[in-house]
Order: sequence, then C-alpha cells, then structure tokens
Amino acid sequence: MAMQVTCDEDLRIAGCDLVVEGEAPGDVAERVVRHLREEHDIDMPDAESIVAGDFDEEVLDKEVRTVTRRLREALALPEGEDETLATGEDTDPASMLRRR
Ligand SMILES: [Zn+2]
Repeated sequence: MAMQVTCDEDLRIAGCDLVVEGEAPGDVAERVVRHLREEHDIDMPDAESIVAGDFDEEVLDKEVRTVTRRLREALALPEGEDETLATGEDTDPASMLRRR
C-alpha cells in the first residue's frame, strides 16, 4: 500500500513542501527522518525505532515528540505499548482521510 507523508500537512511544519511517497513505512520514515534532521534541525530518533515504536518519548524534546507522533500517525502505525489513546480522539481527521 502506497503511503505519503507531507511535511506541511502531516507533520504541520508550515511552509515546507516536502512530500515523501513510498510503499513501506520503514522506507518513508527513513527519508522523512533524514529530511527533518537535515532541513529542520529536528533531532529525530532513528526511523527504524520510530516504525517499531521502540523509542523513549520521555527523553525527547517536546517538538521532537510531537513530530514523531505525527509521523507515526501519518504512516498509520499502531500505537506504542504504553500509549493509552483508547478514545481515539487524538486522531487527526486529515490524516484519516489520507489513509483511505
Ligand atoms: Zn520539511
């Protein structure tokens, strides 16, 4: 299933027109993470860790945590084990549309 992540809409980094498309979450995450590090100076965790949900949110800056969460949402990745979003109200309608 092809997926697409845009900096502006999905990650809400205003004014950036980056669009990354790919077939695998790992591939897309890899390129988005590289872009975020290089172009936006955001110290993202490794793409592999993001996809696996294998990173410690507590140690991340607030901005990094927010962008990481949005990236995972954009990739439609399942929530990490210690996430409790049972209500599902945290889901962005725009990214819901995008997944269909
Ligand atoms: Zn960007």
